[in-house]
Amino acid sequence: MIISECTWFQVEERLKSEDRAAVPLGSTEQHAQLSLSTDSILAQRIANDAAGPLGIPVFPVVPYGITPIFLGYPGTISVRVSTYVALLRDILDSLYSQGFRRIAFVNAHGGNQPAASLAVEWMAEHRDASVKMHNWWIAPKTLAKCHEFDAVASHASWSENFPWTRLPTEVLPTQRKPMVDVPALFAKSPAEARKYLGDGVFGGPYQMPDDVMEAVWEVAVQETREFLMGPWH
Ligand SMILES: [Zn+2]
Repeated sequence: MIISECTWFQVEERLKSEDRAAVPLGSTEQHAQLSLSTDSILAQRIANDAAGPLGIPVFPVVPYGITPIFLGYPGTISVRVSTYVALLRDILDSLYSQGFRRIAFVNAHGGNQPAASLAVEWMAEHRDASVKMHNWWIAPKTLAKCHEFDAVASHASWSENFPWTRLPTEVLPTQRKPMVDVPALFAKSPAEARKYLGDGVFGGPYQMPDDVMEAVWEVAVQETREFLMGPWH
């Protein structure tokens, strides 16, 4: 049940038998030759595909996340931790007020981890509700599937390069990029980080054949679906 394709009447009806909801979490940030909306596209799509057969309402992706390190790249938007947590709290409060009791954040961006801490804090105040967070790209089965094809599955590399995140205008390098030092990267200013990272990929191959990407996606959808099914606590 995709919220952007539903009326409120339909949601009210669904709430009679369903108290779960999925809220995708994305980011608008540099992804090298891929779309700036890569994380938002992936979060929305994985949630839609996973929740589809279950009938769980999937809300529109939160398109902005916490990503100060990439602010040196035009088109990147970063919100403060306090802003982000406040926004997600309002989303949880809204859903709760209408009867949703099991809410899943389906996340596609590493910087959004404060959402997991918020979930714990919010649950302490709403004892009859459950909120949990799924990081789709590093979930164990999905990551293992990626590693069948390459040991490196990093930011903006092949592992985020799907037919729905790549851009027809871009020609990608065919050689692999040496992996950057990630802790060192995050200690830099946005300007230094851009100088250090260059095009924005952290490392690894830029692209894989479509059948590889379909195999990864299939595992990721199934794993996300299992997460939505439970257990819920
Ligand atoms: Zn990404």
